[in-house]
Amino acid sequence: MKVKETGVSYYGISYPEHAEKDFKEMISHNCNAVILALSEFDIDFWFPNIIKVAKVAKDLGLKVYLDTWGIGKWFGGEPPSIFLTNNPGNRQVSAVTNEQLPAVCFNTKAFQDYFYGICEKLATEVEADGFFWDEPHYALPKSYASITGGAGDDWSCRCPVCQKDFEQQYGYEMPRVLTKEVIAFRENNALEILEVASRIIKNIRPDSKITCCVHATINNYYVKENRGYDDWNKVCKVDAFDVFSTTIISYKLPRSYFKSITQQTVDVARKYGKGSQRWLMNYYQEPDKIEEIKEIAHLYADMGVESLFAWTYRGGHGTVLAAPHALEMWDMLGEAYGEVLSKEYKIK
Ligand SMILES: [Zn+2]
Repeated sequence: MKVKETGVSYYGISYPEHAEKDFKEMISHNCNAVILALSEFDIDFWFPNIIKVAKVAKDLGLKVYLDTWGIGKWFGGEPPSIFLTNNPGNRQVSAVTNEQLPAVCFNTKAFQDYFYGICEKLATEVEADGFFWDEPHYALPKSYASITGGAGDDWSCRCPVCQKDFEQQYGYEMPRVLTKEVIAFRENNALEILEVASRIIKNIRPDSKITCCVHATINNYYVKENRGYDDWNKVCKVDAFDVFSTTIISYKLPRSYFKSITQQTVDVARKYGKGSQRWLMNYYQEPDKIEEIKEIAHLYADMGVESLFAWTYRGGHGTVLAAPHALEMWDMLGEAYGEVLSKEYKIK
């Protein structure tokens, strides 16, 4: 198996002529793809230039994927949500405390209409190769169970809309504990909105490649994080998804963990005939030796991963989440990509 794709995420997109320089730098770092991380503000305010920036990247030979970054605080990412600002309702609600949480309930019609509208607009007007579903999750996931386990009490969403839907489906009041039915209900709804959005996109742009990227967590018999996308078989079964992806892993974790997550990613992707993608951390944290990025890239390549992506361009240089040696990390990533990317996929 060969690595066919190497890329980074790119945010803060404003001017196509500036982005062009950055894209050329990505190509010189052996990238052949870019994920444009688009916040709600970007989509709302910078839309004309998103179209142009995507075109510049395409013209240079990069594959372009659109990331609905942090939208509704349902997807992963730092950007604030315009929808949440404008809609005091439609929020996820904690099951135990009944508090409204700073994340939209994606089971509400108002948010679904908003999200489908964004997907339709992007698919219609932006010439991209696909979409990237970036760490979708229910709120509260981290309080639940760390990698070392630990029981969690609270979960979401138990808002009036979810409660009503649950009762209609199951015929009794939505419990405050995570029964099997509640887990299934949450997972089904979490996938349904992405499935519908993916179909909307493919109806407009049939060749769009849809990547679903979930948290790289071992959800085993004993520990499950209950983000709603924890059953990888169930996620991979969705027809509208083309690539199954698992997100970055902390460099503080043992390499055996990297291997285990990657094996599971590749296995489940193959089982359902999907492409596989693994992520490298290129911001915030560094391995003990920066060269270790190469070892990890080779590990992923040797295990049969087809697409490698890193968060983010220039190691997050200039942001509060920059890697301590951000530019060195970026250069090392470029070298690593140069070693693993198959020659025929390299942009000349
Ligand atoms: Zn809800």
